[in-house]
Order: sequence, then structure tokens, then C-alpha cells
Amino acid sequence: MSAYDRIRRLLDGDDTVVLDGGVGSELVRRGVRWRGHGLRTDPEAVRSLHGEYVAAGADVIRTRRRPDLAGNGQQRQGGPGRTRGARGAGLHCWVGLVCDESGRLFTGETMADAERGLAPLEPDVVLVNCIPPDDATAGLRELLAVRGGPCGVYPHAGRFDPPEWHFTDEYPPQTLADQARHWADMGAWVIGGCCGTTPEHIAAFSRTLRVS
Ligand SMILES: [Zn+2]
Repeated sequence: MSAYDRIRRLLDGDDTVVLDGGVGSELVRRGVRWRGHGLRTDPEAVRSLHGEYVAAGADVIRTRRRPDLAGNGQQRQGGPGRTRGARGAGLHCWVGLVCDESGRLFTGETMADAERGLAPLEPDVVLVNCIPPDDATAGLRELLAVRGGPCGVYPHAGRFDPPEWHFTDEYPPQTLADQARHWADMGAWVIGGCCGTTPEHIAAFSRTLRVS
């Protein structure tokens, strides 16, 4: 069984797929200079954090390692060109969308617009991410209303105040996990964390969301 078969089984079953949490923000919190390309200067810190997320119960981790799918490098990260490229390379595609408190994309489109635009690319999972939990609830609601296939959510905790991430205490691990339970009850297939979330958050998600 391939690693992705297990994820597909989870997506087809009753259990929630648990994603990992923030990587860049957490590495910076641990003293790794992300802008200095932590992957090159501190590979052990990066590897160790990925390991902590797996130990915390994450079924899927996000890494920076990927084939060069953008070709001439002109595609924006997460753009349709890259998704098409990933499809062509036989990879599974999950697409993350950023939305506002009304569940619209920052560029003004509705989730219905986004779903229509993404449909030809047949993404396995579409998620809303890197937004406050309340906005994530709004985005997830809109997404679930227009998409038949798997949807997910991985919000941030704290706020970005350039040039760095500011950790706040309004969403300690169990508080965000209780919110995650609500997203699972709404129908989310996949739940994790973005900037400001930690292995402790993912451990709380894993404890709270597992049905088996
Ligand atoms: Zn983020």
C-alpha cells in the first residue's frame, strides 16, 4: 500500500485527516532564521520539527521539497500552472485558498468561482488556510456548499506583523482543537494548522478528532 493509499482511505472513511502545523513560524520561534533559508543552514531543526509533527499525530506533512513544476518560474506558488504541472507529473494535488471573513477570496471571487476555476484540474482536496479561525469557519462553510469532494482547513494562530509572526495566546492547543472539532462536525475532511500553530496544537487535534 502506498503512503497515499492510506490518506485516500482516511478521506473515504469517517476519520479526519490531520495535517501538520506551522513550520516557518515555529522554526523562527526556535531561533532558526527562516529568511536565511533554514533548509540549508539548519536542516536538522527542519527535520526534527517534521518528526515532531508526525509524532504528534499528523497524517500529512507539508515540505518545501518538490519537483520544479513551474517550468520557467513565472507561475505564482499555488497557481493553476503549478497544479497542472503536478498533475502532469502524476502527483496528488491539494490546493489551499486564502479567504476573508465573508468566505471570499482576497481577490474578490466567491468559493463557487474558485471551485469552477479549479474543477478542470481535479484537485484531490481544496482547503482554506493561513487565516484566523473565524474566517476559516466562513471559508469552509462556503467551500462545503459548492464542492462535493474533500475540503479542509488549516488556520493560523496569532498574526503577521511584518517582518515577523507574532504569537498570541488566544488559541492555545485545546481551544483550537475544540474549534477543529466544530470544523470536523461541519464536514471538513482534512484539518491542520498554519502559521503560529505548533506540534502541541497538532497533538491536541489528533486526540480530539480521532474516532478510531
Ligand atoms: Zn500560514
